[in-house]
Amino acid sequence: MKENKMILTIDAMPINESFARSTVASFCVQAGPTLEEISDIKTAVSEAVTNCIVHAYQKKNEGKIKIITKIKGSEIEIEIIDSGIGIEDIAKAREPFFTTLPEDERSGMGFTVMESFMDSVNVIKNGSGGITVKLKKKLDNSPLQMGVCDNVIQRANF
Ligand code: ATP
Ligand code: MG
Repeated sequence: MKENKMILTIDAMPINESFARSTVASFCVQAGPTLEEISDIKTAVSEAVTNCIVHAYQKKNEGKIKIITKIKGSEIEIEIIDSGIGIEDIAKAREPFFTTLPEDERSGMGFTVMESFMDSVNVIKNGSGGITVKLKKKLDNSPLQMGVCDNVIQRANF
């Protein structure tokens, strides 16, 4: 099965966050997600992109965020790549309730949210600085289920 790939590069500005999550979600529609799966993907992408804006580039409204989305059958992989300040201790950063911005009333739950909505979350230090967050999700869209559950599962078609 041939892979289909989209690469999106945006400026790290809050106004681009909803554009990024909607664009990734729209691209993923071809893989036949349920509305719930699309919502999960949007939430995870939103958390990762927001982290780039507020942490990697420290709310300076500068820097680039590259998002690579790959679809192969029912498997979706999304990489959110920044070249910002990076993360010293990734394991610590991923702990629930850990945040370096408590004064902004951040709850430190972004990575935990990504983990709960996706099948896997990998955080990788980039050689050139910054981090890559790799999100994976396998859609539950076997032909049998689509036939049986047509009336039950609403499928995203936007
Ligand atoms: P919340 O997401 O609940 O608003 P948060 O962003 O602090 O709070 P997480 O998203 O779980 O929580 O991130 C945990 C910590 O990891 C952040 O406080 C920050 O220190 C660090 N971090 C996350 N993403 C990045 C990034 N792209 N670049 C640099 N540091 C990051
Ligand atoms: Mg966060």
